[in-house]
Amino acid sequence: MKFDQQIRNYIYGELEAPISGTYIDNYSPATGEVYSKIPDSDERDVLRAVKAAERAFPVWSNCGVKKRFRVMMRIADIIEQYLEDFAQAETTDTGKPITLSRTIDIPRSHSNLRFFATAILHFASEAHHMERQAINYTMRRPIGVVGCISPWNLPLYLFTWKIAPALAAGNCVVAKPSEITPMTAYLLSKACIEAGLPAGVLNIVHGYGQKAGQAIVEHPLVKAVSFTGGTATGKRIATLTAPHFKKVSLELGGKNPNVIFADCDFEKMMTTTVRSSFANQGQICLCGSRIFVEKHLYELFRDEFVKRVKKMVIGNPYSDKTDLGAVVSKEHKEKILSYIELAKEEGGEILYGGEVVEVAGKYENGYYLQPTIIEGLNHQCKTNQEEIFGPVVTIMPFDTEEEVLAYANSTQYGLSATVWTQNISRAQRMAEKLEVGIVWINTWLTRDLRTPFGGMKNSGLGREGGWEALRFFTEPKNVCIHV
Ligand code: NAD
Repeated sequence: MKFDQQIRNYIYGELEAPISGTYIDNYSPATGEVYSKIPDSDERDVLRAVKAAERAFPVWSNCGVKKRFRVMMRIADIIEQYLEDFAQAETTDTGKPITLSRTIDIPRSHSNLRFFATAILHFASEAHHMERQAINYTMRRPIGVVGCISPWNLPLYLFTWKIAPALAAGNCVVAKPSEITPMTAYLLSKACIEAGLPAGVLNIVHGYGQKAGQAIVEHPLVKAVSFTGGTATGKRIATLTAPHFKKVSLELGGKNPNVIFADCDFEKMMTTTVRSSFANQGQICLCGSRIFVEKHLYELFRDEFVKRVKKMVIGNPYSDKTDLGAVVSKEHKEKILSYIELAKEEGGEILYGGEVVEVAGKYENGYYLQPTIIEGLNHQCKTNQEEIFGPVVTIMPFDTEEEVLAYANSTQYGLSATVWTQNISRAQRMAEKLEVGIVWINTWLTRDLRTPFGGMKNSGLGREGGWEALRFFTEPKNVCIHV
């Protein structure tokens, strides 16, 4: 499944050009060159997609879960069959190491489809029996036409994470991938055609967020919106949807703490912390960007961490040996560099990194940055409060559990936290008091797709995953039968 130079929208089962006839340049972060064109869709394309979804809804919502299961499994099989093509496309669009695309992004995408295709076969609702009076049961019906909007950091992984439960529950979808990384969503539309997904069940519109994305969110026939992206965009979507009482699920930014107590398993913690800091160039919403280390472990941690990070290989994302590829865009590279400057102004000392990496030859115009470790900042400074979303971490010492809890909880965000300790009581206390939606103890990014996923505070609203996602994409109705 080769990727074309000109991406097309997927509407009512067909691949089509945007009505405007205009396209957006699609850059490869690895080379800095334009390698394809993205439809610059507007509200006219969105209207076509919404109408297509509306037309498909009666049949799809009533065709039975087994049919939905079968076609979704076929799409998953096709993605798996063309895994290498999908992985190459993901790396070309994002600049992430090919090993990540091959082992995480694409496998997780077909797993998402299989997970929700099978979950819907087991989905059940509650019954409430009122003795000698009545039986209540909860009828759950699909909502109708729903919108799914996703970001650039884990493109197909997060796109399918929304689309799969929406389709499994019987909804018809109008979806928009990020305009920065649209290629695997385009390949997905080809996979849907090959799998025989009925026309209009899934429609993929490409283009800018403020134009195509907003048109999806605002369309009156779109009854629910599942969004993953930045907190500012989430706020905008919440504002636009509130007057229409649309259902919204918002997965937003983070500034996650990584709390390391001196009694941790040092080797396991160190290996994982290198990964949780810099995987995908630090562009995972769950990366631990603020590292708090108990004081009497601090120096040992710092020296070993710097030593290991210095050995990381940065450059050609298509090489199996690369640890860090390119960051996603020139603008994002500049944003990250501006935060490194800010950290220096705020009194931070760069222990390692902080510089652009010059890669010779074919990749000389790509967007490469060193993994960067900063110390000497307090938890309240802007560097430690704002989301950088790049390969930049700060390290800070702490004395007590109470103190580190206050540091960890001091930001507007509340997505995830990691805690390293062998003391199970302390781990439990920390888990209770950390203001986040996900706590990892002695691990990071271990994901069971059945668990609730999402953030507290400004990191979001609602939860994805497992039954939570199927509940979001259905409308509960209580039916009371007198007996
Ligand atoms: P973004 O908010 O700029 O864009 C996300 C998506 O929203 C894109 O498809 C974009 O085109 C669209 N969009 C933009 N403006 C819109 C509007 N007005 N109406 C409708 N759609 C609009 O985010 P990004 O830069 O693509 O992604 C990075 C952010 O995503 C980071 O903040 C990161 O933490 C967050 N993120 C969160 C999670 C999570 O699960 N909580 C996962 C991954 C990424």
